[in-house]
Amino acid sequence: MIDAKEALARVQYYQLNAKIVTIPIEETISRILAEEVYADIDQPPFHRVMMDGIAINKELLQTTKKFKILNIISAGTEASELPPGEVCFEIMTGAVLPLNADLVIRYEDLKISDGVAEIIVDLKNLISNFHIQGSDYSKGALLLSVGVTIKSPTIAILASAGKKNVKVFAIPKVAILSTGDELVDIGVNPKSHQIRWSNGITLQQELLSHGFTDVSLNRVGDNENDMKKIMSELLLSKDVLILTGGVSAGKYDFVPKVLKECQVMEIFHQVAQRPGKPLWFGKTETDTFVFGLPGNPVSCLVNLRKFVVPLLQKSVQGTIKNQPKAFLTAGVKFSANLTYYCPVKIRNEEGKLLAEPLSGNGSGDFFHLRDADGFIELRPQDAPFKEGFLGEVYLWGKS
Ligand code: AMP
Ligand code: MG
Repeated sequence: MIDAKEALARVQYYQLNAKIVTIPIEETISRILAEEVYADIDQPPFHRVMMDGIAINKELLQTTKKFKILNIISAGTEASELPPGEVCFEIMTGAVLPLNADLVIRYEDLKISDGVAEIIVDLKNLISNFHIQGSDYSKGALLLSVGVTIKSPTIAILASAGKKNVKVFAIPKVAILSTGDELVDIGVNPKSHQIRWSNGITLQQELLSHGFTDVSLNRVGDNENDMKKIMSELLLSKDVLILTGGVSAGKYDFVPKVLKECQVMEIFHQVAQRPGKPLWFGKTETDTFVFGLPGNPVSCLVNLRKFVVPLLQKSVQGTIKNQPKAFLTAGVKFSANLTYYCPVKIRNEEGKLLAEPLSGNGSGDFFHLRDADGFIELRPQDAPFKEGFLGEVYLWGKS
């Protein structure tokens, strides 16, 4: 049996095979960029007028404050040229600054009558009011690097660089395989010896809430041959296989044996933690990773959040996130020599995270997670866990 910290370190040592896919820009929100993006044009692409008003050559201000209006130029019009003389163009925001013009004076600073614009403010107060070509970035500049999480401003950069299609890291392909003869589908009325198959969908939705949307749900009875058949199929087509149930020491807990038969190499089995002591982790030669989570609902959800989510996150983001920390609002009694994941309700008080411990009837009691936002990690060497104890918290996903 290994320590929980060591177990997480072993999981995080690995990374899934990073696959890259090209997808339309409109599907890229929240995805991780897998290519460098360079500017194909200057930004702005031309001297861009920033105010509605007139464009003049500022040298003329030495001799006059009045300018004859020759033309009106709107955004989207080809570049124009201001002729010599005490003349101007009326010009609109977004238009190209005319050649020979170097000052835009906004309507608020003008009086216009009989086709003549007159400046009515102190000349000292005038500013140029145009956005110089290439002043944000020049053609050829590196705009975005690999590993960036795509948010709405990233989309603006991609779109402005003409990226209709974008290379992003593929969402890992995950399969959940629940084992157990006692399980029936959630739409079925269970007989008196059966229970509804709640774990599969719970784990699937937790992964979904972290952005891992490619998760298939599968179920098999406690039968070695059936297990072997479906496991070997899933191992071929998935990046991660998550098993629930059948991983402890019972007579029908075939998972570790069948995994061995399917050539999955064990990296660890059994962790000094509660819930989730029987946790199994291993990989195939071609780097399909396998987690054997205990069947108890609290145990499998907590262990999925603690071990599976970080592996997936590291694999698409390239980094390991630090967990947030929260202060216990009440003491927790736990004296076994195990790392304890205590469900907590989180609140934020003046920037401090507070964790209210929730108690229940053990790892089979999913109902006591109803108000939990996640769990706090309590390591045996840090005991006793008094009110005010500061520990790492793992929260359920949100998206
Ligand atoms: P196991 O890990 O297979 O020994 O299962 C431990 C407990 O969790 C047993 O009481 C199972 O009935 C229950 N259990 C196992 N799998 C599921 C599941 N998919 N959904 C809900 N409960 C389950
Ligand atoms: Mg079972």
